[in-house]
Amino acid sequence: MRRRKTVSMDADILVIGGGMGGCGATYESRYWGRDLKIVCVEKANIERSGAVAQGLYAINCYMGMHWNENQPEDHVRYARNDLMGLVREDLGYDIARHVDATVHKFEEWGLPIMRDPETGRYQREGKWQIMIHGESYKPIVAEAARKAASEIYNRIMVTHLLMDEARPNRVAGAVGFNVRTGEFYVFRAKAVIVAAGGASHIFKPRAVGEGMGRTWYAPWSSASAYALPILAGAKMTQMENRIVLTRFKDGYGPVGAYFLHLKTYTQNAYGQDYEAFWRDSIEKMVGDYVNHHPVPTCLRNHALLEEVKAGRGPIRMVTKEAFQDPHKETVGWENFLGMTIGQAVVWASQNIDPKEINPELTTSEPYVMGSHATCSGAWASGPEDCAPADYQWGYNRMMTVEGLFGAGDAIGGSAHKFSSGSFTEGRIAGKAAVRYVNEIGREPPAVSEAECEELKTIVYKPLENYRIGRNEIVAGTVSPSYLLPLHGLQRLEKIMDEYVGGISAYYTTNEPLLTRGLELLGMLKEDLAHLGSEDLHQLQRAWELHHRVLASECVTQHTLFRTETRWPGYYYRADHPKLDDQDWHCFTLSRYDRHSGKWAMEKAPVYHIID
Ligand SMILES: Cc1cc2nc3c(=O)[nH]c(=O)nc-3n(C[C@H](O)[C@H](O)[C@H](O)COP(=O)(O)OP(=O)(O)OC[C@H]3O[C@@H](n4cnc5c(N)ncnc54)[C@H](O)[C@@H]3O)c2cc1C
Repeated sequence: MRRRKTVSMDADILVIGGGMGGCGATYESRYWGRDLKIVCVEKANIERSGAVAQGLYAINCYMGMHWNENQPEDHVRYARNDLMGLVREDLGYDIARHVDATVHKFEEWGLPIMRDPETGRYQREGKWQIMIHGESYKPIVAEAARKAASEIYNRIMVTHLLMDEARPNRVAGAVGFNVRTGEFYVFRAKAVIVAAGGASHIFKPRAVGEGMGRTWYAPWSSASAYALPILAGAKMTQMENRIVLTRFKDGYGPVGAYFLHLKTYTQNAYGQDYEAFWRDSIEKMVGDYVNHHPVPTCLRNHALLEEVKAGRGPIRMVTKEAFQDPHKETVGWENFLGMTIGQAVVWASQNIDPKEINPELTTSEPYVMGSHATCSGAWASGPEDCAPADYQWGYNRMMTVEGLFGAGDAIGGSAHKFSSGSFTEGRIAGKAAVRYVNEIGREPPAVSEAECEELKTIVYKPLENYRIGRNEIVAGTVSPSYLLPLHGLQRLEKIMDEYVGGISAYYTTNEPLLTRGLELLGMLKEDLAHLGSEDLHQLQRAWELHHRVLASECVTQHTLFRTETRWPGYYYRADHPKLDDQDWHCFTLSRYDRHSGKWAMEKAPVYHIID
């Protein structure tokens, strides 16, 4: 086996993932920890990495407190309603009260924010959204992190967290490899902040074959934010709460600016407003939630799905009226050019001019994330001043593993953070991690040499499998002795799609399906020991697959545990088709034991701290 160089590094605070949460964590850690060594590790390049890589057209979480537009309490009520009653109100409140300051920093750093010419305030797209010229949003945010960090390591994929030899439930750092040079990296750290984004490509996407790789959430969001803490024994929450998005068909173009700013609306193939048709039947499933304003996102998805099932699809966005106004037409196109150029290209290729034709909408495959209209992720300690005792075990945003913090998609229970909220949560986690290091984490953790060596062998195993196995086949990609990462990914997506409620099952599952899905995932996990990677790029794909599979198993366990249908439109438990507030007005928690491979499930109370 080829020997690979090991590069060892000590840090006070290690930030994993340099997206919105990671940049926020790096920036704020420096502010509070002037003398600390703050290292950020990123598998791509923070300049253009993460879900904001290609820019955004709106910042979706901004209160506007200094103009008295909204208060943090209002945002908590909004998120709680959208998530059908289940959010960590302490975490959401904590972000909402700080998010405006973050946005003001973005503007100071050069992000152009549109202004309302009449009021001089930020141009609102909706109650919570403000409009930006955001093609360069990520480079602007990355610059702040770059200037704050002691060192940024780009192109390093983190594969595992390290644990302290002396204190078994304390994190000690992480290992990974450079995806360009192949060097092995060992980072020893007193505190670790995981901000490695959400998970796409765990359910089979609508676009396969020619369109594979086209997904709504970033294809490089590969579930590391979940797999790393899960393997370290951190408790996860609400992993069943996957999200399904209603988007423009085939390009996943966002609809927010269309609904909110351009005031477009949807109708069925026969020009009818269909949402009202389904109100009564939805009320029978979920009770009064359907009468709340705004109607929760999942319930609007549900109405669309039912309408299509009733044979009155496709559903279209009525753009023809709005696009007669030249200003709105410009906004409609710019919305895509600054954020989802692919949708403009798809429309051009399909002869769709939204001024002449009302474009089709469809629902996406499910994704797992913690920062959008959904709240999967790690179970984290809350803010000292407002978190109920059950939600506090030390430092803000610390997971149930000592010294391990998280932000953005990584942290569960707190939806509707979006880009600005994820950066804000990174700042909150960074500040708390500095306190942890200064107060009780001063001593560097003990890292076992033997563990690092063992992990090194494990990490490069797919290269070895391929090197040995490739001579057994003359040509082609199917081998008797190894599995390519792409094949493994397709198998994963098929299992999740068919058994755990993906698109081909109309998002529907039940106990027998989930049980069988877990068996099949178990077999896939066994086969992952035989992954074969021809080069470093494929080695990265192999480890992304490992992370996706573990996160998928967690999603399946949670879906099995919650015996109700809480979010119709996101997924359905056909054997428990109704919302059940009596038994399930609670969070679901899981803990994985990496030695036995077993999952322990429990419930945790939901406290409503805002009236
Ligand atoms: C299509 C789309 C549209 C959106 N629209 C809006 C919008 O209009 N307004 C808005 O405010 N928000 C929007 N969002 C939401 C926003 O982008 C996310 O909320 C935010 O980026 C989440 O921050 P994060 O730090 O958790 O993840 P990310 O920003 O995705 O960062 C994760 C980082 O971790 C890195 N990483 C992953 N795995 C590893 C690993 N193993 N080792 C090292 N590094 C790793 C990734 O490369 C990435 O840089 C949108 C998101 C998407 C996908």
